[in-house]
Amino acid sequence: MKVGLIGNPNVGKSTIFNTLTGLNQHTGNWSGKTVEKATGYKTYKNIKYQIEDLPGTYSLMAHSKEEEVTRDFVYSGDYDKLIVVCDATCLERNLNLVLQVLEVTNKVIVCINLLDEAQKKGIEIDFKKLENILKVPVIPVTAKKNIGIDKLLESLTNKNKESYQVKYDDNIKEAIYKIKPLIDKQNINKEAICLRLICHDVNFMETFNFSSDKILSLKIKEAQNHLNKKGIPKDEIETYITEEVIRDCGDIARKTINFTKKDYSKRDRIIDKFLTGKITGFISMLCLLMIIFWITINGANYPSSWLYDFFFGLEDNIIEVLKFIHLPNLVIDALVFGVYRVLAWVVAVMLPPMAIFFPLFTLLEDLGYLPRIAFNLDNIFKKCASCGKQALTMAMGFGCNAVGVIGSRIIDSPRERLMAILTNAFVPCNGRFPILISMITMFLITFSKTSSFLSALLLTSIILVGIIMTFVISKILSKTLLKGVPSAFTLELPPYRKPQITKVIIRSIFDRTLFVLKRAICISAPAGLVIWLMANIQVGDQSILKICADALDPFGQMIGMDGVILMAFILGFPANEIVIPIMIMGYMSLGYITEFDNLYELKNLFVQNGWTCLTAICVMIFTLMHFPCLTTVLTIKKETGSYKWALLSILIPLITGITLCFILTQTYHIFLI
Ligand code: GDP
Repeated sequence: MKVGLIGNPNVGKSTIFNTLTGLNQHTGNWSGKTVEKATGYKTYKNIKYQIEDLPGTYSLMAHSKEEEVTRDFVYSGDYDKLIVVCDATCLERNLNLVLQVLEVTNKVIVCINLLDEAQKKGIEIDFKKLENILKVPVIPVTAKKNIGIDKLLESLTNKNKESYQVKYDDNIKEAIYKIKPLIDKQNINKEAICLRLICHDVNFMETFNFSSDKILSLKIKEAQNHLNKKGIPKDEIETYITEEVIRDCGDIARKTINFTKKDYSKRDRIIDKFLTGKITGFISMLCLLMIIFWITINGANYPSSWLYDFFFGLEDNIIEVLKFIHLPNLVIDALVFGVYRVLAWVVAVMLPPMAIFFPLFTLLEDLGYLPRIAFNLDNIFKKCASCGKQALTMAMGFGCNAVGVIGSRIIDSPRERLMAILTNAFVPCNGRFPILISMITMFLITFSKTSSFLSALLLTSIILVGIIMTFVISKILSKTLLKGVPSAFTLELPPYRKPQITKVIIRSIFDRTLFVLKRAICISAPAGLVIWLMANIQVGDQSILKICADALDPFGQMIGMDGVILMAFILGFPANEIVIPIMIMGYMSLGYITEFDNLYELKNLFVQNGWTCLTAICVMIFTLMHFPCLTTVLTIKKETGSYKWALLSILIPLITGITLCFILTQTYHIFLI
């Protein structure tokens, strides 16, 4: 049996999905985190269920890409049951989707989740009465505590004959009957299709192959004209129909829901006054960001050096083993000094900060803070003709820009979505954090134990530069390539929820940390080999790496850096984590990455090669703004379906970075002279 799980965003679909299938689909306290369908399986009483977790949507009148996924699923009719998950704390609003789905099919089960929260808020629901009205099973559930899930499974074999139908007025009914005879579709209710067709949903018509039918198009026009004569203009039909549905929702809610406490959301409102206040909102946001960085920087130092010692300690043993199996020396060199050392570096440098940063970030997500960031920044984004949801995709970019790019599907308007995709690389991803942190530690502050606060402050400022650049570039894009006015959108501020600590840790480690680490390893191993080859193949008496670096040097000097640094960024295209190791190889003219016990030695090496504070600052700016990594660029190509945007996503940050570094360097030289 094929079962679809649908519902408004943030009602606990993924939690139910995970409980049912034992899988680990991402859950989080904000709308828009499931952007793709996930599939899992469950066998119960000898029946095998294929369960699909679909992106959250408020209505079947889809406006964004992820909502389309859900709408297309519902209208395909290709399922045995649909579970519509509702939030018991705001059932009336959730009923809107329930009634829309009932219009399409009666293979529906209504699952009312978050019962524990509703009880706390003094909301009482008469489930029996609701079931009688809707005429489909209504199952109360507390997914987080696994209560009611069995009943839900039991109900899947239930067969409904008929179900509640919205009572539209005569105008709509007449319009529907004008097109209904022309609709030939099995499995689902034809009237529901007619409703969508008279709403002039071009995208819907194309998806279900209605647009090529000339006679149908004429009839739709006729139906729309009919409504027009009755005082409903074409572009208001959708609103008109929605209002009819909402009226029915209100009627049902009045009959079945009872509020016993008036001020149930008082606590949340007080917290929100502070966290989303005009001034306090910004201050608290910056402070939180800084605290997270401080904990990350402070906590990552020690495990990093342990891992480092561990990996380099193993090296001799690995060489022994490889010699034992009689591999040629050259191959051993390539494997150990090329592949293994780059890998060891990447893991030692990346793993600890990720293992600290991701759980903290997930904690904020589970608390319900992320949509508040979007709310706080919405005004500024709007001034740049973009939308506040971009703040959410930006936040996702902190972990991994490719994730941020995919996450941009939560933005409805294609124009704003492109803007979010093109500017996502301006927030440093996890691969770039280590470069920023080591630059700050080596050059901008003295080495002392108390300096991690200052590091966090500096890191926050750098991130702010990235965010400001996001605004500037968005503004420029909105005046040039992506002209348009900002669209309106609904952003739901979820209640603050107590995070589930163990789940947060497990999820952030498996979903995020290991995912990013795996990617980094897959990419940096072959990259390690290529770099080793470049450093070891000699042309004349110089390695290819050196020749390329020398060629890039004049340009590098112009923008405050040098050839080796630029070469490192270019070779770091597959994964930014390997930028510093390549710099070291370049400077030492070595064929391999060397061990550096601490940042003192590294700083000495850099200073001997002409680095100053200016170089460090330029490297930081360039780290923040060069090109996104290969994975991100490929993801952009996939998401936008065009090489043009993928190329632009490289050029925009690159040109910005080069320009800023150039201006800074030249200004510095002028003042020095
Ligand atoms: P989705 O967006 O519909 O997939 O929702 P999620 O499964 O991500 O859940 C949204 C939030 O609600 C998460 O923070 C969950 O931990 C929380 N949640 C889910 N089910 C329950 C429940 O039964 N009770 C409570 N209190 N919280 C829940």
